[in-house]
Amino acid sequence: GLVLAGCGTGREDTSGDGDGTDGGAGFDADARIGVALPDKTSENWVLAGDLFVNGLEEAGFTPDVQYAGSANAVQDQQSQIEAMIQNGAQVIVIGAADTGQLATQLQAAKDAGILVISYDRLIQGTENLDYYIAFDNYRVGELQGQALLDGMADRFPDADTYNIELFSGSPDDSNAPVFFEGAMSVLQPKIDDGTLNVVSGQSELAATATQGWLAENAQERMDNLITANYRGGTELHGVLSPNDTLARAILASTSDAGLDTPVVTGQDSEVESVKSIMEGVQYSTISKDTRILVADTIDLISTLQAGETPEGAEGMDNGSADIPSILLDPVIVTQENAAEVYADDPKLGPLTEQ
Ligand code: BGC
Repeated sequence: GLVLAGCGTGREDTSGDGDGTDGGAGFDADARIGVALPDKTSENWVLAGDLFVNGLEEAGFTPDVQYAGSANAVQDQQSQIEAMIQNGAQVIVIGAADTGQLATQLQAAKDAGILVISYDRLIQGTENLDYYIAFDNYRVGELQGQALLDGMADRFPDADTYNIELFSGSPDDSNAPVFFEGAMSVLQPKIDDGTLNVVSGQSELAATATQGWLAENAQERMDNLITANYRGGTELHGVLSPNDTLARAILASTSDAGLDTPVVTGQDSEVESVKSIMEGVQYSTISKDTRILVADTIDLISTLQAGETPEGAEGMDNGSADIPSILLDPVIVTQENAAEVYADDPKLGPLTEQ
C-alpha cells in the first residue's frame, strides 16, 4: 500500500450528518463510491470490477461498480457516471471507455462536490480530475520495445537485421500513444541505424492503431500486412504488440499464413498468453498486478477520507491541467521469470515450461 503523510486530523464533521465520520476530505467513511469501468477489452478489467466491490466493502465504503457495454461503450459510461452523481456518490473512480469524452460528466461531478479518480487511463481535456492512478504506461512501452529486441536476438541468433511490424492500441485510449512512444524510444534508433526494417513502412501511430483494442481488427491488419509484404520468402522476425489480446490475434494470423513464429510482445498477463509464453510461442507479456492497482486505489480513497495527503503523487499533464498522479512499476515477463513473477497469482497457478 501507500505510505502516507499524516496531516489534517481533528477536523470537524462537515458532512452534515453529524455522525462524526467526515475525515476532512468532504466525504463519509461509508461513502457511496462509484466505479465506472470500460467494456471488458482485457481480463484486467473483469478482475478489477470484482476486486473493487470486495475491497471497497471491506474498507467500509458502499461500492457501485458499473461496466460500459461493448456496443455503445461511450454513451453507456456517460450515463452510468451521470446516474452515480444522481445517486449520491461522493467519489467516482473511472476506467474510461474513451478518455476524450468525459469532460461534461466530470464538470457535473465537480459541481456536485464529488472527488474523481482516473484509473489506469488518464482522462484528457478537463481540469476536474483529482487524481490519476495507473502503472507507468511509458515504462510499459519501453519494456515492450526492449523485449522485442531481446527476443529477436535470442530466437534469430544468425540475423544481423530484423524485419518487424508495429501495432498500437485504440485511438480513444490515451494510454495507446504512451505505450507506443515508450516502445519507439527504444526501437526508433534501431530503425534509424538499419538494424530494424519495418517492411510495410507503417511506423506512425495512426497507421498502426487497433480500433477498440479488438482482436479481430489486429488480426485483419496482420493478414493484410502478410499478404502485401511477406509472401515470397520475406521473413517476419518480430511484431510489437501493445497487449496480450492483440498478441494472440497477431500470432493466429502468422500461424494461419504458415509463417515461422515471430517474436511478439504483449501486456496484461492474460491466462492464454501466459500459457503461450510457457509453450515458447508468444515471447513476452507485462505484469501489471490488478490486485495491487485496485488495492492502492482503495488506499488512496481511504487516505483522502482521513484528510491526509497521499505521498509520491507527481503532476501529469492531461492537456488541461497537471493531475496529481500515482504511477506503479510494471514488470516484463518472459519464459525465464514467469514462474517467479506469478508465484502467488491464483489466476495463473504454478507454472512449468513446456
Ligand atoms: C490498459 C491495458 C489494456 C488495454 C485494453 C489499456 O488502457 O492499460 O492494460 O490491455 O487498455 O483493455
